[in-house]
Formats: sequence, structure tokens, C-alpha cells
Amino acid sequence: MKYFFFIFLSLLNFYYCIAQEQYSIHDLKSGKFKEDSSYIYLLPFENNKKVFLIQAYDSKMSHKGELALDFKVKKKTKICAARDGVVTGARADSDEGGLKPGNMSDGNYISIKHYDGSVAHYWHLVKNGALVNVGDTVVKGQVIGLSGNTGYSAFPHLHFEVIGYDGTGAYTQLPTRFYTNKGIIYLRPGKFYKAVH
Ligand SMILES: [Zn+2]
Repeated sequence: MKYFFFIFLSLLNFYYCIAQEQYSIHDLKSGKFKEDSSYIYLLPFENNKKVFLIQAYDSKMSHKGELALDFKVKKKTKICAARDGVVTGARADSDEGGLKPGNMSDGNYISIKHYDGSVAHYWHLVKNGALVNVGDTVVKGQVIGLSGNTGYSAFPHLHFEVIGYDGTGAYTQLPTRFYTNKGIIYLRPGKFYKAVH
């Protein structure tokens, strides 16, 4: 029994070390992060725009186990590219949104591929709210769309997430830090942040 417990502890420790090498959910949620060389994103809104973050990493409402961010913004708020890249996906023909299972496929969005291969997704845009086309090159800070409430969404907001390769080579959601009025940080839910371009 003791022996098994020892193995369990070793595995736990091993996992902890691996997790520490990249990031731990706990660090992200607490906003603490040391010795980070990851890309610093702009908040996906116009300079000086103040936004409220409803859900962040691993938030209980609908982001359990997810590395994604939900910003509460009024319909038709201007969405800006958080990083340079090329538009690889865009949809803006939907006018449907809600919390029915069928709403999952109703979301308007823009996807932008960055030069390191990662892809940012901007979700729930208003109808006709994609202001860029697939193939367009965009620069950070450029207005690319208008927010809305389409898809699986209970209220107008922007869902932002970045997918890419993590330190172990897995293709997954990546945590992103931002320039804000509170410094360069990982965002925490329940707080206001101002975009700094
Ligand atoms: Zn979300």
C-alpha cells in the first residue's frame, strides 16, 4: 500500500513539474505568471475601450476546462485583431443565438492565423459583422468585426480563444496574456480592463 502511495506521489510530482514548465491553471486564474516569453496580445477592442471580462480560464459557467475568454460588450462593439495574421475563416450570415443545442452551429466568427501557426477565434459576431474576408492580411489593432449574440450565447459578448501547439506538442487552447491598463497580464474574470494599443 505504502509503495503504491509512493508511486502515486511520484506521478503527481512529475505531472506538477511538467505543468509548471508551461503554466498551471491555478497560476492563470490567480493572474500570476513568472518568466514568460509568450506573445503579448492586444485586447481585441479599440484603444482605451473598457471591457468587462465575464469568464476566463476554467470559469465554471461554460468554460470549465477551457482556456477561453468571454468579454461582455454591447452589440456592434468594434472588434480589433489582437495580433497580426491572415484571415482563415469568417462567417456573418447568421442572426440566431441562444442556449438551445441547435444554437451551437449558429455562431458568426472570424478566425485569424498568426505567423507561428496559432489561430485566434473571435465568436458570436452580429449579422454582417465580419469586416474582413478569408485571405485578408490583418494587423493588430485593425477593426475586423462587430460583436453580437449569435451562436451558443445568452447575451451579447465576444468569446476569444487561441488554438496552437503547447510545450508538449499538443494542438490545444493556449493561454494568452495582454497589454492592459493594469500592465501585461493574464486576465481574471469579474474585472474591467482597458485596451492599450
Ligand atoms: Zn465563451
